[in-house]
Amino acid sequence: METLHNYIDGSATAPAGGDYLETSNPYTQEAWGRIPRSQAVDADLAVAAARRAFISGPWARFTAPQRGAMLRKIADVIAENAEELAKIEVRDNGKTFKEMLGQVKRIPDWYQFYAGLADKINGSVLPTDRPDHMNYLRHEPLGVIAMVTPWNSPLMLLAWKLAPALAAGNTAVVKPSEYTSASALRFAELVGKAGLPAGVLNVVTGLGSEVGAALTNHPDVAKVAFTGGVAGGKAVYASAAAQMKPVSLELGGKSPNIVFDDANLENAARGVVGGIFGSGGQSCVAGSRALVHRSILDAFVARLVELTSKIRLGDPMASETDIGPVANKTQFDRIMTCIGWAREDGASLACGGEQVPDPRGGPGLFVAPTIFTGVDNSMRIAQEEVFGPVLSVIPFNDEADAVNIANDSAFGLGAGLWTRDVSRVHRMAGLLQAGSIWVNTYKVTSQISPFGGYKMSGLGREGGMEMIADYMQTKSVWLNLTDDVPYNFPL
Ligand code: NAD
Repeated sequence: METLHNYIDGSATAPAGGDYLETSNPYTQEAWGRIPRSQAVDADLAVAAARRAFISGPWARFTAPQRGAMLRKIADVIAENAEELAKIEVRDNGKTFKEMLGQVKRIPDWYQFYAGLADKINGSVLPTDRPDHMNYLRHEPLGVIAMVTPWNSPLMLLAWKLAPALAAGNTAVVKPSEYTSASALRFAELVGKAGLPAGVLNVVTGLGSEVGAALTNHPDVAKVAFTGGVAGGKAVYASAAAQMKPVSLELGGKSPNIVFDDANLENAARGVVGGIFGSGGQSCVAGSRALVHRSILDAFVARLVELTSKIRLGDPMASETDIGPVANKTQFDRIMTCIGWAREDGASLACGGEQVPDPRGGPGLFVAPTIFTGVDNSMRIAQEEVFGPVLSVIPFNDEADAVNIANDSAFGLGAGLWTRDVSRVHRMAGLLQAGSIWVNTYKVTSQISPFGGYKMSGLGREGGMEMIADYMQTKSVWLNLTDDVPYNFPL
């Protein structure tokens, strides 16, 4: 068993209370290590270190081009250590090595993009209606940013927050998921060795309800950037409101993948199957509702079932595996509960619907890719986020019907549209309530383009140029250009 430590002020730091949580490999279901079960006192230490680094450490004196250069170095560190970092992710979350390696190899793009922006955040001199005054704007970093991440794509979702935050000159305390803390700890150690000054990036591990709440509630934290479920997002938002803190929330989804009868149906079938079963459905943008035009329903479902039957479950490190185990037992139980709801509510099972034996012989955390047909959008399986390999097929009659069903959801993260009708594409892109619309493709994201949710899928965006403004605040400076100072200063 390995014992990991928090990373605070540039050093491995044991939790003050001496408590640890086991962390295990979801494929073998064996605990391989212990991570600190940190508490408020550990969050205090990390925030104090980040605050010192923000105010008086070398980082506070870094010029904008120097911050850009540091971000490029971080990009290089990730590229050089991609295999090791991807293996750490797989050991904790069970997603396939080929997926995690591909993901980790793309993470440098985020650091490179925001490195390029670091020295392009211009202040401005404004025209003035006060002839004797000059007015200019400064864009300043906020301070210590608390970053809370989930278990499905830990280092990537950290990059979405950390890259713009550092480019803007902030410092960070990260609370990774209790299931997948090892990668953030190793990443922090690597970038520390590469020259990121002590205190700029700190990592404290433990439970959301303990160190997570203490960190996001901390009065010296200037902003919280959270990715996770709706319950955690609401708790963070409520505590931030009490302290008037800005937050960004990237939460769940129940994204529709809408297939019209004029689409290239083979592409659409592949898009729908990949959209839900990629990452075993453990993706915030999983296309978990397939809305299919009634005229093609039977043939399309038959093709979905055929493609799904070819998905190979197994060892996530094996190159032939398409889907690894569910990331943890809690999530496995949640998926099985949701499958039970679909049965109870009268949906028809087209395939899957059960636990699959562990290829190693034991009762592993494998769920067969599952398709339900005959789903009404009001059923729990169509309204609740499963976060697992479960697809609900819902027929629709026409465009208006598709829009109504798609938007009849508490969530609004993504929506896929499969059609060759260009006018329909633009009509529907305007009407669908989702932060990302994918037309004849699915799940495309980029550091260049903002990503985020409508409705309960969250607040704010990650990615894109404007995003950096969310990690800054604007100061307006007024100068009197004369020697004539009035006795009073009317507003
Ligand atoms: P989760 O909400 O259980 O945990 C996410 C993180 O929040 C963890 O680090 C957890 O410890 C922490 N946390 C939980 N409660 C907290 C609290 N009260 N205060 C502070 N921190 C708290 O989510 P999860 O199960 O790890 O991840 C799955 C969820 O994340 C799904 O709902 C999924 O859709 C969502 N997600 C969203 C996106 C996105 O970009 N929109 C991306 C990935 C995952």
